[in-house]
Amino acid sequence: MQNSPRPFRLGLTGGIGSGKSTVGQMLVDAGAALMDADAIARSVTAPNGSAIAAIAQTFGSEFINAEGALNRDRMRALVFSDASAKQRLEAIIHPLVSLATQAQTQAAVEAGHTLLVFDVPLLVESGRWRTQLDGVLVVDCEVTTQIERVMARSGLSAEAVQGIIAAQATRAQRLLAADWVIFNEGLSLDALHAEVHQIMRDLSCKV
Ligand code: ADP
Repeated sequence: MQNSPRPFRLGLTGGIGSGKSTVGQMLVDAGAALMDADAIARSVTAPNGSAIAAIAQTFGSEFINAEGALNRDRMRALVFSDASAKQRLEAIIHPLVSLATQAQTQAAVEAGHTLLVFDVPLLVESGRWRTQLDGVLVVDCEVTTQIERVMARSGLSAEAVQGIIAAQATRAQRLLAADWVIFNEGLSLDALHAEVHQIMRDLSCKV
């Protein structure tokens, strides 16, 4: 690993339906390593996840389901009525998510990846990510396009998609955090691919 450049840590974010996952997959196909923040967060509370024992100890075994995973419905009901429970849960989960992310990042570096992409849907909302990244790529599009894409993908109603969008950062807030923006509107997948590759060329000057 001598003489290898320090890997570039790129945050990838975008509103639901912006095309963030599509861009993430294109980056992976071009050789980047992808760390999926949501998947890592889910994994610590999945069966045999690293947070399960501490959750059972703190909240009781009734918060663990028969499969050995967090009983999400029960926990949701508790944290809804008890703000301190939410804090106790986050105090268990956040350090374990950080550890799992570090382990995955370390494995990617050891495998020789020079571009590490952190797919963080709520990057702008959570705030804590920014200092850990060298740059942020925002995938952006019109809200009407977000709604159309998510309805086509999931079968959700327009109102349901609008509700999800309203709970996320606005386009303007996200764009303020961006070092690179892909405006994924009216682009063919080939044109999107070309934009992703242009950003990778740009990044290779920096890594
Ligand atoms: P996100 O991860 O931001 O929610 P996705 O990458 O899953 O969004 O994209 C949402 C949907 O829109 C997917 O079905 C994807 O294939 C499609 N899509 C995204 N960008 C384009 C594009 N430029 N051309 C055609 N389809 C696209």
